[in-house]
Amino acid sequence: MAKTLVRWLTLVGIALYWGVGATNVSAQETMPPIYYHIDANGSQSIQKLMDKEPSFWNVLNNQAGSFGYTSATYWFHFTLPTADYDRVLRIGYPLLDSVDIYYVANKEIIKQVKVGDAQEFAKRPIDNRNFIVPIASRDQLQVYLKVATTSSMRVPLSVWQPAELLGDEQVVNTATAMYFGLLLGMMVYNLFSYSVARDVRFAYYSAYILAIGLLLASLDGTGYQYVWPWSEWLQSKAIPLFGSVVFIFASLVASQILQTKKRSPKLHRGLQGIMAAAGLVFLASLVFPYELMISIVLVGAILGSSFLIFTGFTLWRQGLAYARIYTLALSVLLLAIIINAVGYLGFLDSFFIQRYLIMLGSAIEIMLLSLVLAIRFNEDRQERLAVEKRLNSRLEVKVKQRTQELEAVMRKLKEMNQRLEVKSSEDRLTKLFNRGVLDDDLPLEVRRARRTGYDIAVVMIDIDHFKKVNDKFGHPVGDEVLVELSRLLRVNFRRAGDRIYRYGGEEFVILMPGAQELGCHDKVLTVTDVIRGHTFKTERGEIKITVSAGMALLNSLPGHVSSKQLLEAADNALYQAKNSGRDQIRIARSSKDVSEKP
Ligand code: GH3
Ligand code: MG
Ligand code: MG
Repeated sequence: MAKTLVRWLTLVGIALYWGVGATNVSAQETMPPIYYHIDANGSQSIQKLMDKEPSFWNVLNNQAGSFGYTSATYWFHFTLPTADYDRVLRIGYPLLDSVDIYYVANKEIIKQVKVGDAQEFAKRPIDNRNFIVPIASRDQLQVYLKVATTSSMRVPLSVWQPAELLGDEQVVNTATAMYFGLLLGMMVYNLFSYSVARDVRFAYYSAYILAIGLLLASLDGTGYQYVWPWSEWLQSKAIPLFGSVVFIFASLVASQILQTKKRSPKLHRGLQGIMAAAGLVFLASLVFPYELMISIVLVGAILGSSFLIFTGFTLWRQGLAYARIYTLALSVLLLAIIINAVGYLGFLDSFFIQRYLIMLGSAIEIMLLSLVLAIRFNEDRQERLAVEKRLNSRLEVKVKQRTQELEAVMRKLKEMNQRLEVKSSEDRLTKLFNRGVLDDDLPLEVRRARRTGYDIAVVMIDIDHFKKVNDKFGHPVGDEVLVELSRLLRVNFRRAGDRIYRYGGEEFVILMPGAQELGCHDKVLTVTDVIRGHTFKTERGEIKITVSAGMALLNSLPGHVSSKQLLEAADNALYQAKNSGRDQIRIARSSKDVSEKP
């Protein structure tokens, strides 16, 4: 930042050097001695004054003719020698209300001209922000001026050959144009910044620049010449009006740039106070006359600027880096204002200081402030980016956490679903598949068998005389037997694809896809042997049982057989096994094992 600052100051220095150099060019005529007379109540007339002795007049010692604020009328008088060229008189202070110029030769008024900014701009003999009046004659001539004004009494008089004045004006005009050009550029630039960045600080800042520009245009006469030549009223109010607007926006910009609301509520209130006071001055200026307002405005300007500098300085001391540039920028302007105010009060004599100091000061200030604004904007942006980043990473963590939680819930849900599915497909007592599952499975398996060409066997097993077991040992023991039998079935039918279902009370169905009749019969035979040989150990003693089995194989049955018919065929075979004395296996073979209905 220090480097940037140095670069800016160098630029400003170059501009300053230029400005100073340019304003020193001047080729005015050597002025004869000027005399003045203070006419306290404005009662004197030119006729009377022409007859006065030289001792009546005071010698004007200061070149700028500065007397500060006064309600008195001032008379100025000098004698021009004969010349062989035309001459013009310039009064280099554009705010004088009324100036009556009398050209007198041989005690006779040969011409009278009236100028002043209380008069419509178009009535000026020569269009210029200052008052320029042709001198009536090439002969020796007495010149009298009667000046009355509510602004500072300041009458810098100079006499020029028109061509020389043209040269001088050109330099001044160029400098002035550069100044207003700079302001205009900065203003437009900040407006663009506002429209792009939507940061209201840029808008305030361009308003501030506009106000400064208008104020300076009022002070220097350019405003009346180019901006409001139609309004003597505005010309008479311009300085207090624009001056107060400058302070409204200066405080606004300061509070925004220096973040006083956040950093120092007290200073912030001070700035708001300035805004309010400036607002009041603005309103009062609309009503009350200039001579009353101007002293308030001048004092207010000095106090207001001092407070702004104090604010900048305090925050600088608190370690706010760019507050230093801000303070520097304002100090330049304040210095210019103070020197200028001293000039207005009549204590300063330098033409250059009066005319250019505020311009130079405000130009430097505006450039430096714009730099501060850019720095602030950048800082804010970076801060925002950092916050965004922080928020984003926090958000990411949160999202991750939520996702994990969600995944856990999903896992649990899936588990529960699976368990639920098992529950609904499981027989409670034996943990075998229930009949519902068989109803789903059988058609699928039959279709698959048809598709692949493999056979499928349906085996139906029923315990023989199971009622007796129940009757003898009780239902719970019967249950024990059913559980143990299920275990035996599970152990024995364990080829891939075999599935065991509890079909009814003590009836079981085994699906054996891909089975062949012989292998299947052998298998069932083995299992019935195992059951017959098994001793069921229960709490009521040891029990022996036998089972009967009926089998049906898809490919062993004639014609096209549905899954339902296949199951019925197995059931019929079982029925035959029971009828034939139990403890045996029957295979469904003929069409009579298959019911008529499909
Ligand atoms: P058979 O099959 O040899 O003709 O004679 P059975 O006595 O086994 O006759 P059936 O198959 O018709 O009788 C089934 C009996 O099985 C009826 C019932 O007492 C018994 N039973 C059915 N389900 C259960 C059960 O879940 N637990 C117990 N303990 N007994 C059951
Ligand atoms: Mg039965
Ligand atoms: Mg039975």
